[in-house]
Amino acid sequence: MVAIDPGHNGGNGAHPEIINKLIDGGYGQRNVCNTTGTQTDAGYTEHQFTWQVSGHLRQLLEDAGVTVLMTRTSDTGVGPCTNVRAARENSAAAEAVVSIHGDGAPSSVRGFYVLTATRPPAGKVIAARSLRLASAIADAAVANGLPPSNSLGSGGLWKRDDLTGLNLSMRPKILIECGNMRNAAEADLMSSTSGQRQYAQALADGVFAYLKS
Ligand code: ZN
Repeated sequence: MVAIDPGHNGGNGAHPEIINKLIDGGYGQRNVCNTTGTQTDAGYTEHQFTWQVSGHLRQLLEDAGVTVLMTRTSDTGVGPCTNVRAARENSAAAEAVVSIHGDGAPSSVRGFYVLTATRPPAGKVIAARSLRLASAIADAAVANGLPPSNSLGSGGLWKRDDLTGLNLSMRPKILIECGNMRNAAEADLMSSTSGQRQYAQALADGVFAYLKS
């Protein structure tokens, strides 16, 4: 089973009293439950993007016989909080978890980057699997014509120590910033159905390569 975590949610913006609540973010951090996410200059939102890509990815995985868990089931709800999403992935014992996002960086920045936890909480074996999943997805993204970030990391690989969803994950897990929604060219790609299919295909190819390795 593979878990797909579409970042943010369509109802988050209308419910700050829920998404701004502080939760356990791992390693003693207190983080907000969730955020609204970013959007393109034309107003195409990150939650729509992550939902669309997740839907295409789910189809590709299920067509190949892979069982899929979605951490949210619509694009109109609120949350769930990132710690709740991680708990769902953990209790489902997902073989791999792909958390899907889009970035909101300065307009000259472009390209994807795949995040893993700076301090992986689940031990060396799971940490190594997360890195293998990250590399497989970065390789597949490049093979599908998507450029690695021109800002962070090398070859589209980067780490963070402050993300609840990574800090609390006991499963092989990555979080991908597929592209920068504030970059004009990337915003066009991310807003289009063909672009969303391209991202989903890259993610599916990476997951398949990881599961076979
Ligand atoms: Zn995001």
